[in-house]
Amino acid sequence: MNYIKGYRCTICGKFFETKEALLTCPDCGEKGILDIEYDYDALKKVLTKDYFEKNRNYSMWRYAPLMGIKEDHIDEMLRIGWTPLVKSRNLAKELGLKELYIKDDGLNPSGSSKDRASGVAVLKAIEAGAKVISCSSTGNAASSCACHAAHMGLPAVIFVPKRAPIGKLTQISLYGATLVIVDGDYKAAFSLSKQAIARHGWYNRNAAINPFMVEGKKTVSLEIAEQLNFKPTDWVVVSVGDGCTIGGVYKGFNELHKLGLISRVPRILGVQSTGCEPFVVAAKNHEPLKECDENTLADSIAVGIPRNPIKALRAVEYSKGAWISVPDEEIIKAMGLLGKTEGIFGEPAGVTGVAGLAKALKEGIIKKDESVTIIVTGNGLKDPNNAQKAIVKPDLMEPNIEKLDIYLKEKGVI
Ligand SMILES: *Cc1c(COP(=O)(O)O)cnc(C)c1O
Ligand SMILES: [Zn+2]
Repeated sequence: MNYIKGYRCTICGKFFETKEALLTCPDCGEKGILDIEYDYDALKKVLTKDYFEKNRNYSMWRYAPLMGIKEDHIDEMLRIGWTPLVKSRNLAKELGLKELYIKDDGLNPSGSSKDRASGVAVLKAIEAGAKVISCSSTGNAASSCACHAAHMGLPAVIFVPKRAPIGKLTQISLYGATLVIVDGDYKAAFSLSKQAIARHGWYNRNAAINPFMVEGKKTVSLEIAEQLNFKPTDWVVVSVGDGCTIGGVYKGFNELHKLGLISRVPRILGVQSTGCEPFVVAAKNHEPLKECDENTLADSIAVGIPRNPIKALRAVEYSKGAWISVPDEEIIKAMGLLGKTEGIFGEPAGVTGVAGLAKALKEGIIKKDESVTIIVTGNGLKDPNNAQKAIVKPDLMEPNIEKLDIYLKEKGVI
């Protein structure tokens, strides 16, 4: 059953009544990113608390009626989503928070929240009878697209900027995709992929352009809400690059609210690096987004021209949230802190929310008696080189018990 009612352009607001997949607004062109709207009255009768209690599919596919996908091939897919929502004790204490949860999306099949969008993209590509799927990305959308395409036997052509970290590059090739490492930044990779996709008629998994990507991304919010018995925290914190993830986070909560399953939408804190903070600047100055340098080690959010600006800005505005940026040193510190306090290893962009939360608490944007969920968006093993900056490497140890004791004393373990 397809509950899609139609597509609304985020620029001109025009509504296109169709169940068929549309890409961008026919009137506004490429910038006219669409938002998918459902028949919420009909869905209200299906997606009840009872439906969720009885649903044994513990993956993001449990939300299929609210994702606009045909369910034919779902059983053949890898398991995406239903990642753990960890109740934090140690990090919460460290930050002085009463109630803190960590949604560990680094535990998805390819190690990032991008699997939620790529899974939908691969299904849609199969539905459309595509011969090839393609995307450009800073690395995670790329590796997840390659992952799910491989599992479903669909050839993939993937474009990444040359700075993509080794873990992500290795994943793409290992999953058998055709990898194009563009001699330039993400902007250059995006532009080349756009030309190639148009020229060869491949299925387009590019973030933002394809409105179904947000339908996958939003499942992280559906899960957070369900894992908290439909009483989500006051705040949800997420790092922002192109703006699709935060757009999805808002849409998920907003739709649950429309369906009467939650009583309010959490406030959303969007976090960027000070080295690449187009959203923070635009929100502060109340002006449109300006292109900026991609000067942060958090490669997944090194996005100089965000492709989903409207959805991202609205996510914060409509949820009465806030924007904040943190320097790279604090991102590295957050990486160590999250590992030490919770046993969770995130890549730099994956832990940027932790650094953002610490700063938001200091600045009084978030109060210590408010409840918070941080989304850790990517796994730390993807980027071991940056992870090394967060640790002190021990020297080699002589196989000598006395010397070992000296070292253990220094460490305070004996
Ligand atoms: C893609 C990504 C983000 C940001 O998502 P956008 O949709 O680009 O804003 C954050 N963290 C990680 C690990 C990502 O891969
Ligand atoms: Zn339009």
